[in-house]
Amino acid sequence: AQRTMMVSACLAGVNCVYDGSHNRQSHFAGLLHDGEVFLFCPEVLGGMRIPHPPSEIRGGDGFAVLEGRARVVSRDGRDVTEFFLLGARKTLAFARKHGVKTAVMKAKSPSCGCGKIYDGTFTKTLIPGFGVTAALLKQNGIEVVSDEEYLSVVKTEE
Ligand code: SF4
Repeated sequence: AQRTMMVSACLAGVNCVYDGSHNRQSHFAGLLHDGEVFLFCPEVLGGMRIPHPPSEIRGGDGFAVLEGRARVVSRDGRDVTEFFLLGARKTLAFARKHGVKTAVMKAKSPSCGCGKIYDGTFTKTLIPGFGVTAALLKQNGIEVVSDEEYLSVVKTEE
C-alpha cells in the first residue's frame, strides 16, 4: 500500500531532538518498522546541528513566523528563524513529492507543535498555536495532528 502518512522522526526513536535525545513511542516505531510511514525532522532538514540549545517562538506562533511577525530564538539568544523556515519548506516539498496527506507531529515543538507551543520565555509556559512546520503544512492542506491526539484516537479505537 502507498504510504500517505509521515511522522516526526523523534517519535519513532531517532535521536534528533535538540539535546540529542528522542521521544520514542512504540506505536510509531512499529509503524516505521512495518513500512507504513515516512519520517521527517524539520530542524535537521533546516540545518540545525545536534546538540544545540532549545528554541522557542517569540511573538506568536508558526503562522506569525511565516508572516514575518514572530521569530524563532534559541535560549542563548540566537535568531534561528531561517533554519526553521528552511526546514519547514523542505518538509512541505517532501510531503508533496510523496503524496503525504497526514503528518503526525511531536506536541509542543517550535517546529512540530500542533495546537499548543511554548511562549518564547523558556519557562515551560504553553500558549495556543502551531510550530513553524506544522503551520506551513496546515496552510498547504496537509492534515496535521499531534502525537498525543493521534494516540488518544488509536487507543479509543482499540
Ligand atoms: Fe525534529 Fe520535530 Fe522531533 Fe523536533 S519535534 S526533533 S523538529 S521531528
